[in-house]
Amino acid sequence: MKGINRRDFIKLGLASGTLMALGGSSELLTKTYGKRETQKKVLILGLDGMDPHLLEVWMKQGKLPAFQRLWRQGDFRRLRTSIPPQSPVAWSNFITGMNPGGHAIFDFVHRDPETYFPEFSGAETLETQKTIRIGNLVLPLSGGEVRLTRKGRAFWQILEDYDIPATVFKMPGNYPPAPTKQRTLSGMGTPDLVGTLNHFNYYTTEFAEINEDIGGGAIHEVYVAENKVEASLPGPVNSFKKDRPESSIDFTVFIDPVNPVAKISIQGKEFILKEGEWSPWIRVQFRMIPTQSANGICMFYLKQVRPEFKLYVSPINIDPAAADLPISTPKSYSEELEKRFGPFFTKGLPADTKALDNNVLDDGEFLQQDDFILQERLEMFEYELQRFDSGLLFYYVSSTDQRQHMFWRHIDKANPLYDPKQAEKYGRTIENIYVEMDRMLAKAMDKIDKDTVLIVMSDHGFSPFRRSFNPNTWLKENGYHGLINEWRQGREDLFMNTDWSKTKAYAYGLNGLYINQKGRESEGIVNPGAEKEALVREIAHKLENFRDPQTGERPVLRAFVATDVYQGSNMDKAPDIIIGYNQGYRVSWSAPLGRIPKEILEDNTEKWSGDHCMAPEIIPGILLVNQEIKAESPALYDLTPTILQVFGIEIPKEMIGKPVFLSSGERNGKNQNKTG
Ligand SMILES: [Zn+2]
Repeated sequence: MKGINRRDFIKLGLASGTLMALGGSSELLTKTYGKRETQKKVLILGLDGMDPHLLEVWMKQGKLPAFQRLWRQGDFRRLRTSIPPQSPVAWSNFITGMNPGGHAIFDFVHRDPETYFPEFSGAETLETQKTIRIGNLVLPLSGGEVRLTRKGRAFWQILEDYDIPATVFKMPGNYPPAPTKQRTLSGMGTPDLVGTLNHFNYYTTEFAEINEDIGGGAIHEVYVAENKVEASLPGPVNSFKKDRPESSIDFTVFIDPVNPVAKISIQGKEFILKEGEWSPWIRVQFRMIPTQSANGICMFYLKQVRPEFKLYVSPINIDPAAADLPISTPKSYSEELEKRFGPFFTKGLPADTKALDNNVLDDGEFLQQDDFILQERLEMFEYELQRFDSGLLFYYVSSTDQRQHMFWRHIDKANPLYDPKQAEKYGRTIENIYVEMDRMLAKAMDKIDKDTVLIVMSDHGFSPFRRSFNPNTWLKENGYHGLINEWRQGREDLFMNTDWSKTKAYAYGLNGLYINQKGRESEGIVNPGAEKEALVREIAHKLENFRDPQTGERPVLRAFVATDVYQGSNMDKAPDIIIGYNQGYRVSWSAPLGRIPKEILEDNTEKWSGDHCMAPEIIPGILLVNQEIKAESPALYDLTPTILQVFGIEIPKEMIGKPVFLSSGERNGKNQNKTG
């Protein structure tokens, strides 16, 4: 692992997770437990990050009539989220009816205690040799296999046992999609064609830089010569060739000498863009060997022609018509959607928040892109809704989450980037997406019949993110983490400057903190048992009592001890402490991959200004249904048994939640009480 830099890691983790998937997934052996005859249907809208406080305010102001109508008809509660409230963890609670102790997704990032090297949590690579290969390729012949690491069964797999059909649209944390005959399209976690979560390309004559801590794309310096720009679009690594070069496609931009217009010529296709105009999806094929290519789709945006030339190319999405990686079950599902709608966004979180954070796109341009995503999502929703006549339909929206992350600075006067002029212009962006969701909900309510249970849910809410915390710096300052060279502090990722013989604890990922435990970590120094237990409690206590000298607030509201909060048989990858940040605080941008900056706290000056990786009580999600909710304080993992109960399916004992509705017996009893 020596010499791997952050960018390589990001590519590596995702690529290995990604590409191997091609190796083939084993067919599911289905047990049939007998067919359930039921008229019941379940329609679930999964609105990522919808916040109960904002929802309530705007419902009360009459801005969200459909939500209000649903509340009157049924019930509305705050929905308890996961520990930690990161989307892959939260949605896995919902998918399995367990918490991380059961489904084994603890954070975006896990770590290998043998090498202290980070791993992406969603998928693991099965390879014969455990060598680290950078930027593994996207083609089946490269060998190996990618496997979903989530443990436990997804609720749609259980429904399948009972012959209850389900369509699961873009469920987060389901890449590669769990094996099933049900219709599923993979969501958050699905890579782009180069094997990362996001990789844009930006071509400019102006000096520009990528913030290494944020990453997410490449800037290419280009020259205009005789009104022409010659450039190259990088693709996946070509593992068919010995030195594994990056594949690429050359293209030419012909600039109109008078008007702000350019013609782009790529792989025999030509199209003209005006300044400020987006291209439709452009198909690109990266040739690996004569018989193999990787198929992608991308959009070009001509940001500016003169005086500086600026051209943005979106991350290259996997082509849904010819997917080289598994993005749907059955494979024909993505092809069917493509036939009907044309090319569509297949990357997990499609909006390019990284381009906005790196000032490659501005607020307005980012919103144009996210509007394409939203419009596509709404059109496909109508299609799925129209043909939904039995079983379950889960439909997911990402724009709610992404717009709150990026536009919170316009509604939070205490944000370091708050600018009243910009706020005037973009201060309603978040409200507008709630209104869009209200229209979508109205369509769902018009369509459903009396046998349909309608559930509107989010995985978490939102909070401002103004100050960022460096947990490893805090550990160092408190004597729990030792460095090899003090003067090199803050320069390296992946704990390259850590002296493990002097280190009792370290933090990886967005919320996880690990003890350097003897017998578990390769260079562990803390004895398991009483010594470790005492240390865990000591660190948790001190973290919760630490105060931000600038604000006087406690950055860490809760430090959860894993063994106190998790149940299940898959605890081996669990962090020892899960940090629950206070309102306004989150882990810093550089800390999740093991960098140890000099300061414990810093201002968050990124446009990514709203967040949810905090203590769960600060940012609950929403639960709105068209019937009465019995549970006072329902949780994400309660919804899974609720779904099974609606269909009359016995709840597996590994599920820790309880159905949130009254059972039919309880309902009858209650009605009698009311009348009697
Ligand atoms: Zn989010």
